[in-house]
Amino acid sequence: MKSNIKDLDSQELEDWLGARREAPYRVKQIQKWLFQKGAGSFAEMTNLSSGLRADLEREYSIGRLKTLQRSCSRDGTIKFLFELADAVSIESVLIPEAKRLTLCVSTQAGCGFGCAFCATALMGLKRNLSASEIVEQILEVRRSLPADMRITHAVLMGMGEPLANYRQTVKAVRIMSDADWGIGISPRRITLSTVGLVPQIKKLIAETHVNLAISLHATTDEIRSQLMPVNRKYPLAELMDCCRSLPLPKRRRITFEYVMLQGINHSAEDARRLSGLLNGIRAKINLIPFNPHPGSSYRRPGPEELLQFQNALRSLGHQVNVREARGDDIQAACGQLLGAVSSETASSEQSGMEVASHSSLLTAHS
Ligand code: SAH
Repeated sequence: MKSNIKDLDSQELEDWLGARREAPYRVKQIQKWLFQKGAGSFAEMTNLSSGLRADLEREYSIGRLKTLQRSCSRDGTIKFLFELADAVSIESVLIPEAKRLTLCVSTQAGCGFGCAFCATALMGLKRNLSASEIVEQILEVRRSLPADMRITHAVLMGMGEPLANYRQTVKAVRIMSDADWGIGISPRRITLSTVGLVPQIKKLIAETHVNLAISLHATTDEIRSQLMPVNRKYPLAELMDCCRSLPLPKRRRITFEYVMLQGINHSAEDARRLSGLLNGIRAKINLIPFNPHPGSSYRRPGPEELLQFQNALRSLGHQVNVREARGDDIQAACGQLLGAVSSETASSEQSGMEVASHSSLLTAHS
């Protein structure tokens, strides 16, 4: 099988072109075709010589994802189920908000971290995605949008643990964020969420400018290790020390995600302990009411308990947001992604139709 040209970084592409005595400026020309104009074939690349196009065609594929299903939620969220070349499937979720259009992207098929409350964990890890498979989720969703709609934000919060697929994820982030030849989503509008892999967090902050979100979810090692086995490797003290010492850009904050599990992690002591853990860290807290899924017996706390926890944290001086469940009627909310064709969707189609047909839903939110 030919390799996917979108997996080459600028240097690799320049080397390949150099071996054919092609000038280095060809690199950007090709990248603009791939990432800005969304070319589906080398034949479209009309500013390249026909000889070069033929060489590219012989050596590389452009490799697109196949859209197996698109499910539309009552709230305007759209879940895309994609099939990769080896028939593995992944999901991306498009979330329209007042002034944003956010795409939630997967970095692995399945996940190997085994968080007790997460649906994706039940699949186990199937495999890492390549940079091109990560980026192609954005390109494919973009192709289905009406011309006047742009994806403004990207979150690496879909299936998988992005920092366990470090090299491909960072390569994909470079393509997403480059304004000159790439997709052009500013790194300030890209957020990567992690279970808390300490060495890779340090590396990420040194090598990129994306926003960091940490899945915290508990305030003691005992509970966190029950919920997130990774805590045995990187316990709370080490994780929080790492966060405290990160050289963050000015005015940046780290987001701490906290899934609210009924009766497990939202007591008054939890609020106090959480506040203590965040001491000395520029932080904001994102409370995520647990999204139920078949295969889990956890429940979300009631609205009053949620408010109580939120207020306790606010009165301790913290910035707290509650993440609304988006797309939970189509199993598209945090922790509900399973990579399977579903039938119980609010409005579902086996590809073919344009998202434009749902633009009333989308424009209502944009
Ligand atoms: N592996 C990364 C990326 C996943 S992001 C990480 O763990 O951060 C998805 C976010 O949703 C994470 O904070 C995850 O812990 C949370 N989540 C998982 N299952 C959930 C569920 N059922 N309800 C609410 N949030 C959930």
